Amino acid sequence: MKIRRIFAHRVELPLTEGSYKWSGGKSVTVFDSTIIGVETECGITGYGEVCPLGPFYLPAYADGVRAGVRELAPHLLGWDPRALMQLNHRMDAALKGHPYVKSGIDIACWDILGQACGLPVCVLMGGRFGDSVRLYRAISQEAPEEMAKKVAAYRAQGYTRFQLKVGGDPDTDIARIHAVRAMLLPTDRLVADANTGWTQHEAVRVVRAVKDLDVYIEQPCLTYDECLAVRRMTDHPFVLDENVDGLEMLLRGRSDKAMDVVNLKISKLGGLTRTKQVRDLCVSMGIAMTLEDSWGGDITTAAIAHLAHSTPEEFRFTSTDFNSYVTVSTAHNAPQRVDGMMEASQRPGLGIQPKFEVLGPRVLDIH
Ligand code: MG
Repeated sequence: MKIRRIFAHRVELPLTEGSYKWSGGKSVTVFDSTIIGVETECGITGYGEVCPLGPFYLPAYADGVRAGVRELAPHLLGWDPRALMQLNHRMDAALKGHPYVKSGIDIACWDILGQACGLPVCVLMGGRFGDSVRLYRAISQEAPEEMAKKVAAYRAQGYTRFQLKVGGDPDTDIARIHAVRAMLLPTDRLVADANTGWTQHEAVRVVRAVKDLDVYIEQPCLTYDECLAVRRMTDHPFVLDENVDGLEMLLRGRSDKAMDVVNLKISKLGGLTRTKQVRDLCVSMGIAMTLEDSWGGDITTAAIAHLAHSTPEEFRFTSTDFNSYVTVSTAHNAPQRVDGMMEASQRPGLGIQPKFEVLGPRVLDIH
């Protein structure tokens, strides 16, 4: 089986809430997502998606996905998409770095592998653990009482895990965490995700001010060293996200006991192949994970569902259903949330079929 064509569609994903805001005044109203298709000579086509959280979250941006795929695709024509390690090796030889560019191609090749052998991606990634995957809801940064209201509304829809976007003014963030925790049940999980937004002294103030609350602290500061210093001054469960961009940082964090949970985003790590490698190591080392991506629609959500469903339940901290945050559906048979849970498709591959009438014309087509 050989790759004969790689193409892409650009799709805009407006938010159901109108906007999404997080640390440092960053916000997005319409996400710019790229759907990548990999077509084989035998007629099977696989799909992947890459949707950066704007150009100012990770070192990734939407036009960069398209420029990168344009650069990479000619090097992949004629290669076997099922040989995923070889394919990733080839991508790394042709383009240094830029893991997010490679992610959509890698996901599409997992989709092809699954279709070729008649198995869902989650089975190929290790098997289906449990009936479904528990989801968290990210709560856009607003005034404390607004965030508490939103948590109540999403709780009524079945979510039991919430990730507050903090990393703003520390005094307001302290009020945000108190307001939300006060209206949750003891069994609900709350994460305060600062997305690198606090300086070290601000982070230390916040963790002291919420000392008696049951709350996880996620990525308080920009650098790993700052986060580690904060970690050593708190007994809250601690999550690292932006700093863990590959195996090297995972192993460093493990060695320093810098975190209890890591946030693995498929495009941050460079696709499902690389994420599986990090995921499997986390399972071996006993580190729980948030399994997700930076953003996306139906195809990203399908990939997350397969990644999460193939991870032992005790190591799944949370995942998220990005397709329920946006107003546009880009694929048939994508996972749908039921009572705060979702499941990976039982169909071969990712189990989705793109809605071409929504995707519009191809913005690149290399063959
Ligand atoms: Mg995070």
